Amino acid sequence: MTDYLAKLALEDREQLIDLTKHSSPVAAAITEMRRAGGAGQAVEATDVARWASVLLEGLYQQKPARWEHRAVGDFSQHCWIQADANDVFYAHARKREVRALYEHPPVLKPLKSHVWVEGRCRDCDEVRFLAGPDCIPPPPTPPDPRTVLPVKAD
Ligand SMILES: [Zn+2]
Repeated sequence: MTDYLAKLALEDREQLIDLTKHSSPVAAAITEMRRAGGAGQAVEATDVARWASVLLEGLYQQKPARWEHRAVGDFSQHCWIQADANDVFYAHARKREVRALYEHPPVLKPLKSHVWVEGRCRDCDEVRFLAGPDCIPPPPTPPDPRTVLPVKAD
C-alpha cells in the first residue's frame, strides 16, 4: 500500500477536506483523484465509491442560488431577468429560456460614478434618467488648427 492510499483510507469526508485544505468537498475529491491518477497505481473501490458520492452530492444535488429567464432568441446584453416559480414552470408556454445559476452573480460597481448637478452629470453631461451606470466623459476636443497662428504672438 502506497502513501496516498494510506491517506485515502479516511472514513469521513470532513477529514478529506482538512487533509487537502480545499474550500469544498468536490474540490478536495478532485484533487485526490488527480493525485491518484498521477501516481498511476490501482485505487481501492471504496475510495472510488466515496469520490462518486461526494461528486454526486456536490454537483448534481446542489440547489440553484437563482433562476433567470429570457425571451427565446434574445441575446442582448441585459436579457436575463430573475425568474420566479411561475416563470420557470410556464417557460415553454411563454417561449422563455430558463437558466439556473449556482452562485450569485457579482454585483458590478460602476467604473466612475456620475456627479449629478440639477439632473445632469457634471462630467459626461448625461441626463439623469437616460444615463447608464458608468460615467464616461467625452474625450477633450482637439484645438481647431485654423485658430492657431503660424507665428507666436509673444
Ligand atoms: Zn457622468
